[in-house]
Amino acid sequence: MPVLSDVINALDTLWPRARAEDWDAVGPVCGDPGAGVDRVLFAVDPVREVADEAVALGAGLLVTHHPLYLRGTTSVAADTFKGRVVHTLIRNGVALYVAHTNADRADPGVSDALAAALGLRVTGPLVPDPDDPSGRRGLGRLCALDRPLSLREFAALAAERLPAAAQGVRAAGDPDRTVRTVAVCGGSGDSLFAEVRAAGVDAYLTADLRHHPASEAREHSPLALVDAAHWATEWPWCEQAAAQLDAVSERHGWGLRTHVSRRVTDPWTTHHTAPRASEGAPN
Ligand SMILES: [Zn+2]
Repeated sequence: MPVLSDVINALDTLWPRARAEDWDAVGPVCGDPGAGVDRVLFAVDPVREVADEAVALGAGLLVTHHPLYLRGTTSVAADTFKGRVVHTLIRNGVALYVAHTNADRADPGVSDALAAALGLRVTGPLVPDPDDPSGRRGLGRLCALDRPLSLREFAALAAERLPAAAQGVRAAGDPDRTVRTVAVCGGSGDSLFAEVRAAGVDAYLTADLRHHPASEAREHSPLALVDAAHWATEWPWCEQAAAQLDAVSERHGWGLRTHVSRRVTDPWTTHHTAPRASEGAPN
């Protein structure tokens, strides 16, 4: 059985911490480097129910995409939800490790997993990493569809292939517009509109699209927008990441057992379509 420091070295090789954004907080959060690890749970969010799941599973390590603490803290007292998570994990011998923007930029990265979930062919990164001579790392991915779909069909495909969250999938643009090429970015992608427009793709699939950036993007160009739940766009990475660690474990003969949390940790829990959505505001 490997010890935590062995597994952390493997994770650091898959997602080098130096490739995270300056503002990010990645790597180990808690855990004893000398403790044995035989089960690892992957999840998007380090929230209470995921910590409880790791404990119930007997995991020695929880790997999440989102950081628990993004800024410095002076207390891990259990009177906050984050402190409670830390207590639950440490008391039960579960380490926590975060791979966030370093996993976004990796090859394969978060957006490769999103593209794969939809069966899209990746042609390159949306924002290439200048330090990568292979030209494969970077933020977001540009993709081609094997056969053209209408925007309506493409949004329906995303709704069908991504894990179900209450928000579902919404699209902006002519539903009959033909989609042959798309940009995808797991998580909040509305800071990348300029790069998406420059790429000249037909549609952009991401999450957390806000009114003003989306409205302005629609006014700028005929680019169609497809907005899914943040958690749903990043969850496919958990399966990809677990498979990557499985391969490392096999190479070393570690016998690790990896698991992926299926709990929906998107914060939104219900969705109501307006019954007369096409009629607009009342007169
Ligand atoms: Zn995210």
